[in-house]
Amino acid sequence: MKVLPLFNVLVLPNSNIYFQTQAFRAIAGNNVYQGDDVTLLIMKEQQTREEITEDSFYPIGVEGKIEEISGEGYVIIKTERRVNVDEIAINEQHEIFVETSRREDIKDLNINEARQKLYQIKADLKELLSRFRWGSIMENYIDQYTSIEEAASVLSSWISITNEERYAVLALDSEKERFEALEKIIYEYAEVTKVTTDAHTAQQQDYQKLYKENALKKQIDYLQKELDEMHPEQVTEVRKFELKIQESEMNEEARREATKVLNRLKNDGEHSSESGMLYDYLDFITGLSWKKEQPEQIDLDEAEKVLSEEHFGMKKVKERIIQQIAVMNLKRKQSGSIIVFVGAPGTGKTSIGKSIAKALHRKYVRVSLGGVKDEADIRGHRRTYIGAMPGRIMDGISKAGVSNPVMVLDEIDKLSSSYNGDPASALLEVLDPEQNNTFTDHYMNVPYDLSDVLFICTANTLDTIPAPLLNRMEVIQFQGYTPLEKFQIAEKHLLPKALSSVGLQKGDVKVTDEAMETIISDYTREGGVRGLKKRLDTLCRIAAVKFVRENGVPEADASEEETAVKNAGAEGETLAEDRSASAGETGASAGDAAVRSKADTGNKGRTETGNDFEAVDKSDVNAGSEDKFETEPKIIVTKDELREYLDMHALPHNKVKDEAKPGVVTGLAWTQVGGEILYIETLFTKGEGKLNVTGQLGDVMKESVQIALSVVKARFPELASKFKENDLHIHVPDGSTPKDGPSAGITMTTALASLVTGHPVSPHIGMTGEISLEGTVNAIGGLPEKLMAAERAGVTRVFIPKDNVEDLRDVAPEVKDKLEIVPVEYVEDVLKAVGIMTE
Ligand code: ADP
Repeated sequence: MKVLPLFNVLVLPNSNIYFQTQAFRAIAGNNVYQGDDVTLLIMKEQQTREEITEDSFYPIGVEGKIEEISGEGYVIIKTERRVNVDEIAINEQHEIFVETSRREDIKDLNINEARQKLYQIKADLKELLSRFRWGSIMENYIDQYTSIEEAASVLSSWISITNEERYAVLALDSEKERFEALEKIIYEYAEVTKVTTDAHTAQQQDYQKLYKENALKKQIDYLQKELDEMHPEQVTEVRKFELKIQESEMNEEARREATKVLNRLKNDGEHSSESGMLYDYLDFITGLSWKKEQPEQIDLDEAEKVLSEEHFGMKKVKERIIQQIAVMNLKRKQSGSIIVFVGAPGTGKTSIGKSIAKALHRKYVRVSLGGVKDEADIRGHRRTYIGAMPGRIMDGISKAGVSNPVMVLDEIDKLSSSYNGDPASALLEVLDPEQNNTFTDHYMNVPYDLSDVLFICTANTLDTIPAPLLNRMEVIQFQGYTPLEKFQIAEKHLLPKALSSVGLQKGDVKVTDEAMETIISDYTREGGVRGLKKRLDTLCRIAAVKFVRENGVPEADASEEETAVKNAGAEGETLAEDRSASAGETGASAGDAAVRSKADTGNKGRTETGNDFEAVDKSDVNAGSEDKFETEPKIIVTKDELREYLDMHALPHNKVKDEAKPGVVTGLAWTQVGGEILYIETLFTKGEGKLNVTGQLGDVMKESVQIALSVVKARFPELASKFKENDLHIHVPDGSTPKDGPSAGITMTTALASLVTGHPVSPHIGMTGEISLEGTVNAIGGLPEKLMAAERAGVTRVFIPKDNVEDLRDVAPEVKDKLEIVPVEYVEDVLKAVGIMTE
């Protein structure tokens, strides 16, 4: 009898066991045939023929017959009875031989009951299988089951029970127990199938619902769009917002919030009290650009060209900007270090920001922080407040219309803090690259990514920038301009712009060099060129009137018209930014220019008119020449006419006095608008040693007075009694401007020494330096501005602290050339040099 070793198969008597032919051949070999008797033995673990030993089998097996080996790929073994394995032998060819004896069943099964149960099982199985499409095929098979064993062994291959558990069923002698065990297996199978199909169907239903919903939504959208296109006038605001929300590339949070607000607007109706607020919110949030812009590789040469086109000088600043662009190129990023431009007003900090944006091909937006004192100004108001608004940063982003503008935060030193929170800390969040990709404006209430914004801050002084902010910034100093630089800026940039903003051409008006120098020296007093720009704007407006009076309005040709309109547009922008009161006026003149004709209306040759200006027309010489205006200006502005052209008096001269008086010495001060000279005036009056200090001096400066007094008393012990016998008055004009800082120390000392000794010091000698009680002269700040002011005021010799010699690098050569700069270490060096002390 052939032995078939089986593993993990439910083997039972009185049933059919099905094999695939291939699997059967693997177990039984080739020389088994239909009709052969076989003994089925169950292996304890899965082994190959070669590995099998006598101990590999459980002690109970089943005998049966090969019922069918079909050509279609299956084998049926009909099992008959259970047997005990009495002996087992395996030969060299791995053939297995057994001796068996029949194993009797305990006949305790109620046949009728069993039949009933089998009937029920079959019904249940059929019901279960009806869930499947192939269930009806299976029903026929189920009908053919004649025993529970058959049912169980068919289903057993789908049930996850172990080999051991399968054998345990076979080993049960009691027919009743075996029946119950099989019943359990079948019902377990039924339950597992039910649960998985239920889950599957539930999932499928969910999917179906989702698919259907999406399909319906798409269809509704499509139809709605068609309708909208047919009747654009009927598209409601709500619908417009709906579309905008759909189309914008908002992040999930923003979309959720916007949809929530939109639903409220829908539910509350357009006439509810809140609808205005909801409308504004949706308008703002859908108007923002949520799209991430791709970084662009910027050509460095081209960028350099753009920067130089609009700004004269500023070598260091331009170099630093090019470095930043190179780094951004390499890192493929759109932002980098946070830069703060520090310098006097009108030194070009804001306008170079605009040029940077142009060089980077990015949008420019300026946010003014001057006077901001509430956190809400930066971060917005919560929407629960009436009149809530977004903060200035998000407002700027909204104006820029892109997510990666160059944002100039102007006057960051003018931030202050109030009981309504600290704007500086909100600003920290804006600028910090670690946090600003999820900046949450209170009004928006959803995060916005600011990490692609290139921030540039401007300030007049570093002193008032909150330290935590300053720590994160890289400072770039903007020095004030020398008169020579101002001259160049005026000629190359300010005058041509001012002319074109009133519709005149570059060559129409000529300001003589002497006149220009006088405007710079006598009509402006500043480190930057803002005042100069205003003067030239005024000059050009007045020149425009004269031009039209003298020459009439020439007819415009097409190209000229175009240029004029373009110019008007460009300058309108600049002026609006400078908040010039004359913007409207300028616009009108520019408009006039558009209809100006080239035809001359009269005045031939040089004409002296009643007005004290010159109008020159040499058109007869250059008739027809395209560039006649370039070469032959119609109006020449000379120095003597400035009073009228600028519509103001020359500013009072801040020039040093000519007369030297004991006790009065020229000092140099740094102010937010650049450098200034100041006098320290000292005077003895009859009295009893009282000290009177005036001129709005700050605490530090008052302390300098005390130090200077002590130093002078110590240096001139024989004269110290004078301080006791007289009252001492120290004054620093002008009296209404507050002043502070330690750098007037050496000037005060010299003034007091001059007073007690009665030795006058020439006002053309200037000095700056902090002093110590020991009499050393220590370093000060703002040297370039101070020296520039000294030169401007006519000082010829300046004492500076020795430790400041390095800073001379930043001082313009034309300033250095005109000054005798003397570095000093001790008070004595100065006192000896001015002749108060002898060698
Ligand atoms: P700030 O921001 O430093 O106060 P602005 O940028 O407003 O100064 O500059 C004031 C005006 O002066 C602008 O019209 C600007 O174009 C012009 N300006 C300043 N510096 C230069 C320069 N180096 N070259 C050309 N124009 C300049």
